[in-house]
Amino acid sequence: MVAEVVVVGSGPNGLAAAVTLARAGLEVEVREAAEDLGGGLRTKPLFRPDVLHDICAAVHPMATASGFFREFDLAARGVELLRPEISYAHPLDGGRAGLAYRSLDATCERLGPDGPRWRALMEPLLRHSQGLVDFMLSGQRTLPADLAAPFLLAKGLLTHGTPLAARQFAGPEAAALLAGVAAHVVGRMPTPSAASVALMLGHLAHAGGWPVPRGGSVRIAEALAEDLTAHGGSLRTGARLDDLRELRGARAVLLDLGPKEFLRVAGPLLPAGYRRSLGRYRYGPGAAKVDFLVNGPVPWAEPLVGRAGTVHLGGTQREVFRQESLVARGRPGGAPFVLVVDPAAADPGRVAADGHRPVWAYAHVPNGDRRDPAELVTARIEQYAPGFAATVVDRRSVSAAALEAYNPNYVGGDIAAGAVTFRQALLRPTPAWDPYRTPLKGVYLCSASTPPGPGVHGMAGYLAARSALRREFGVRTAPRLAPGAC
Ligand SMILES: Cc1cc2nc3c(=O)[nH]c(=O)nc-3n(C[C@H](O)[C@H](O)[C@H](O)COP(=O)(O)OP(=O)(O)OC[C@H]3O[C@@H](n4cnc5c(N)ncnc54)[C@H](O)[C@@H]3O)c2cc1C
Repeated sequence: MVAEVVVVGSGPNGLAAAVTLARAGLEVEVREAAEDLGGGLRTKPLFRPDVLHDICAAVHPMATASGFFREFDLAARGVELLRPEISYAHPLDGGRAGLAYRSLDATCERLGPDGPRWRALMEPLLRHSQGLVDFMLSGQRTLPADLAAPFLLAKGLLTHGTPLAARQFAGPEAAALLAGVAAHVVGRMPTPSAASVALMLGHLAHAGGWPVPRGGSVRIAEALAEDLTAHGGSLRTGARLDDLRELRGARAVLLDLGPKEFLRVAGPLLPAGYRRSLGRYRYGPGAAKVDFLVNGPVPWAEPLVGRAGTVHLGGTQREVFRQESLVARGRPGGAPFVLVVDPAAADPGRVAADGHRPVWAYAHVPNGDRRDPAELVTARIEQYAPGFAATVVDRRSVSAAALEAYNPNYVGGDIAAGAVTFRQALLRPTPAWDPYRTPLKGVYLCSASTPPGPGVHGMAGYLAARSALRREFGVRTAPRLAPGAC
């Protein structure tokens, strides 16, 4: 028997869709290919049972800010979002570093002559934070509630998303800080899409911060799964979908899948024009992940960097722009951009009794890159933290190519599930007014390959569920998501 509604894939978007639909009173089943729930939210012991590693997402600025999670309210459900004093750091040669404290004042103070410029950029964004987040994390097909949001965004894109970006700051620290956040887009730089990500994530560093959940990202998936089952939903793991026809009988099917996997499971059922359109979907550069077990804190040359949850290693703004643009063209370049997360900077519980702890890192590499990133990433961290290699007790690496085998949504290691170009940020996966709907009756896409794109915000799942509720069940009122609300 097939359930009334089937959600395929249990990433944050699949679970957000399932929760929304179950709270509307529908019978919902989630089918997940892997043995564990959570998609990008898994946390596991990789080397020893008392040290937990986040396999994919580790840091969650959007899991407090997005409309879905604001109402779902992780904190009220016992998920503690721990905020490091420094949201992110960007070490430079010579022991210098840009530091984005949660406190805007502390950040500006350290930036010297660039302090007033950083404040002038961030303060208006902070004043309109909710409007900006809601605009960027929507389907961007409705008028924003706060009209200042698109105006501020456009102004920021002109100055930071064009070659003018090189002239905005006098010193290297502030410029590198912003370039490092923009690099989360994983693509050519400077571009408007990279700048828009920099403005959103950059200002959140001084608002809700860049938190890590106590105990790891899996706590977010567990809270979503708990709410689903409390509303009558069910979850099946080890249940890969290979042919959409297996789900005949369901009134609605929501697929937490990217276009490539959708074509695999439903290709012959789709009209040729739509198939061609999905086939034109572009994937971006890849990420190659390394998880370390280390026997002490990372020995950063600038010790304050150790107070940051996230560290960007990419050198100056110019070096970040150059390296990211090379990788986007499929050329590996010499020194990749590397993101490092030390969850223990905010969550001391991640340190074992004998001081062993996890370090999470990935490098930006060309799509499909097969190289083992372990040496490359270790060397990059060593450059800014001499002695790091000697603290490494064990490490595990996953090339960009292998990441796709782990999760078919990360095609060629593209963790954004599709290039975040200006066009594809809006028109993913195909140009359509309702990007979640497919030509198949009752079948919707709800993954990060639909708006608003990558990250743990739940909004693609929520918006796809709202579309399915309207079209398939005539439900126009948004189900309430708060704990205790029915
Ligand atoms: C290394 C890495 C680091 C990241 N770091 C961060 C971070 O710090 N912060 C952040 O916000 N984001 C981060 N991201 C991005 C974030 O994890 C993703 O954007 C997010 O998980 C996308 O959610 P989703 O629900 O669309 O898909 P996913 O989380 O990818 O989930 C899709 C699920 O569908 C399942 N599935 C696929 N095909 C099938 C099938 N045929 N049948 C059944 N099930 C199937 C998969 O197994 C998977 O569980 C990171 C990603 C990676 C890989």
